Amino acid sequence: MERPDGRARFVYTQGMTTDRRIGIFGGTFDPIHCGHIDLGRAAESALALTRLFLIPANVPPHRPQPLASSYHRFAMVSLAVAGRPGWRASDLELRRDAPSYTAATLKRFHERGYAPSELFFVIGADAFAEIEAWREYPDILDRTHFAVVSRTGYPAPDLRARLPLLAPRMARPPVGHLTRLDTLIFLIDAPTADVSSTDIRERRARGQPITGLVDLGVQQHIEQQGLYTSMIPGRRGSDPPPRPAAGRLNG
Ligand code: ATP
Repeated sequence: MERPDGRARFVYTQGMTTDRRIGIFGGTFDPIHCGHIDLGRAAESALALTRLFLIPANVPPHRPQPLASSYHRFAMVSLAVAGRPGWRASDLELRRDAPSYTAATLKRFHERGYAPSELFFVIGADAFAEIEAWREYPDILDRTHFAVVSRTGYPAPDLRARLPLLAPRMARPPVGHLTRLDTLIFLIDAPTADVSSTDIRERRARGQPITGLVDLGVQQHIEQQGLYTSMIPGRRGSDPPPRPAAGRLNG
């Protein structure tokens, strides 16, 4: 789109548009923790994101089923984004009765009018290292920028050596000379808390505190709801034993 003075609507700063820069941060979030928050903040500040959608996955294709229900995982993400301007919990993947593939999620954003160059898929370096196994690879690289942030033991800059074919697309923010059609892989070497959802679930199962590993609101939700006290997906330690499925609605 052009302005009356003939200049492009998009204003380039360090080669990047200053209009919409939409972060898409998918994860199991079982539960969301401080490492996730650090990751989101690192991407937000390095790339000046204007919006960051946190999208809990429905049935993660390469992972076992989450322990907490979709409802609780969405509730915890909602609690974590409250008070963070520009951050939003999205139920885009949970509303679909299908596995969550990033390619499908990106398609939904494109259908809503977002150009690939406006999208930044936010991801930890450990997860991005597996990109060659993703659906619709390598085409998926053209459908969004990637904002890849270091995780303890997985420095983002090491990805150049690990994925040499992708190295020419990798850049450190801020960068110059982006055309609007380019999609790049931004490597962000910022510190993130050395915590995982697995740690938190295991601590809860052992009866250990999780203070400081998750936001206070998330901690309160986990404790009030008795989450992660059973290792059976969707169940809590206080739940009565399961009844036979026969006779129940929806089996
Ligand atoms: P789990 O322990 O259940 O495997 P997780 O802690 O790895 O879970 P996910 O929800 O699977 O969390 O991760 C979503 C995204 O967040 C992934 O891209 C992952 O690389 C990233 N991530 C998770 N924890 C951290 C962390 N501590 N530092 C940086 N990135 C992280």
